[in-house]
This record gives sequence, structure tokens and C-alpha cells, in this order.
Amino acid sequence: MENLTDVGAVRSLLDRYGFRFSKALGQNFLINPTVCPRMAEASGVGPASGVLEIGPGIGVLTRELAVRAGKVVAVELDQRLLPVLEETLRDAGRVKVVHGDVMKLDLPQLVREQFPGMAVNACANLPYNITTPVITALLQSQCFQAVTVMIQREVAKRICAQPGTAEYGAFTLLCQYYAHCEVLFDVPPSCFLPAPKVTSSVIRMTVREAPPVPVGDPALFFRVVRGAFAQRRKTIINSLSSSLTDFVGKEEVAQALRACNLTETIRGERLTFADFAQLTEKLQEIRGS
Ligand code: SAM
Repeated sequence: MENLTDVGAVRSLLDRYGFRFSKALGQNFLINPTVCPRMAEASGVGPASGVLEIGPGIGVLTRELAVRAGKVVAVELDQRLLPVLEETLRDAGRVKVVHGDVMKLDLPQLVREQFPGMAVNACANLPYNITTPVITALLQSQCFQAVTVMIQREVAKRICAQPGTAEYGAFTLLCQYYAHCEVLFDVPPSCFLPAPKVTSSVIRMTVREAPPVPVGDPALFFRVVRGAFAQRRKTIINSLSSSLTDFVGKEEVAQALRACNLTETIRGERLTFADFAQLTEKLQEIRGS
């Protein structure tokens, strides 16, 4: 069996199949021997649990997951990689490759069918162009105990950001609503074939049983969050009131901010998760009264 982290072996394997890398599919394959074992170890999979991998490529991470997990299901969109995976995963038991687009999958149904009665994690070196929607879908599906993914470092910083920083935004709050998020380690471009332009990071999102602070109406909470960051340079009163015109007026937003001891000129990036939860509650109270 080929060593999938040896550049020469990977090139000759791909040449045998006449494979050419697709930029559009975010194909940068890992060729470093330590990154995949570290990721698989960090993903928390074990003999009693299942793992969903998105985009197995030629199976370098898949093989590491297969030696640790009870079952691996790997979803790959590029049909040209299916015969390659058949060869590279021939000796890796407990792996099922599914041909498909992760963005079109019904994740709860796939988990129910493929992992009955098992705790399930997700682990992937994600194609960079669909990072945000894939992470959103994985978290919102509420099917996974932990999501361990390699993504661009800049997106990793946004997910794990603290209030008051330039990286903090609506996507931070969405991820932190569902999970405890941490950057585990950085991976330089030289670890991939072909080398991408930017540094990557591996992050782990450990799914929470409940949000960090209780949120009465999650749909409204996310509207308020998106509204607060919709016009980042504006003060919160202007950004929020123009986003929530069908729900409340400017005076009601001002009233809610006062009730939360927040000034009208504050910017959304200064508000903590708890501030957003309280602001949502006050807006709802004011509207209902
Ligand atoms: N896991 C491999 C590795 O680490 O070397 C490959 C990772 S590569 C960054 C991303 C993989 O995702 C590619 O194999 C690509 O074909 C696949 N892919 C891209 N878009 C996809 C989609 N929408 N659904 C499933 N797989 C996709």
C-alpha cells in the first residue's frame, strides 16, 4: 500500500489515474506524515463511535480515522477520486465512501442510516470554498458530538474570536452558540500538494448541550446578531434598527439597549454572547408590551 504522505508516491498514484487537481473543488491534499494522525486523535473518535469525513481526497485522513473509529463514512464529490479511494482504502476496514455533494446531503438522515445507535463526530480537511456553509450545516444538524476540521487560519480566528477583536462577528456567535471552539494547531502551506497560498489551522468544535447562556428565541437571537454586524462600521442602534424594521423601531431598539446598560454608540463587536442574549430578550419584552 502506497505511503500517502510521500510526494513521489502520491504523484505516481495520481498519474496512474490521469488525475489533475481541481482548484474549484479546493483540492489540496495533505502530504505531511504527522498532521492526519494528530487530527484523527484530536477528533475524539473511538471504537464505539462513528465519524463522517467530508472530502477524503485520496484517503490520507480517512485511513487514520479508520484505525481509530468504529465506522467511517467519507463523502467525496469528485467522481475521478472514487477508483483511487477504492485502491487506497482497500485494506482499511469499516470505511464507506459515498459519492455526493455534502451541501446537498440530508445530514440527519445520513447519520440515522449510516450510524444507527452510535455517537458520531465529523472530521475533515475542508475544501476552502465551502468552509462556512459546511460548518454551519454540521453544527445546525445537531448530529455530531464534535467537529474537527482543517480550514484557513483566518476563518479559524473568526470562529474562535473574543469580543472586541476585528475577527469577532456573526459567524463567531453562530459557532459559539452550538459549540466550544478552539484552535488546536496551525499547518503551513508546505504540508499540502499543491501548496495553498495561505496557512491553515485545525480547530475542534465540541458541541454543547445548551448555548453558553440561555437563549429564549434562537431565531430572533440570530436575527439580532446578524443585524448588529450587518453594517459593521455603524453604531449598533443604526445597524440594528435598519435590520429589524419589520420587528421594532429605532426608539424601541434604544429602549432595549438602555435596559441592557449598553450605549447607543457601541459597536456590535463589543457585545458578548450574554449581551446579545439579553438584548434579544429585552427587544422581545418591549415588542410584546
Ligand atoms: N482529505 C483529503 C486530504 O486531506 O488530503 C482531501 C482534502 S481537499 C482540501 C478537499 C476534498 O473535498 C477534495 O477531495 C474535494 O474533491 C472534496 N470536495 C470538494 N467539494 C466537495 C463537496 N461539496 N462535497 C464533498 N466533497 C467535496
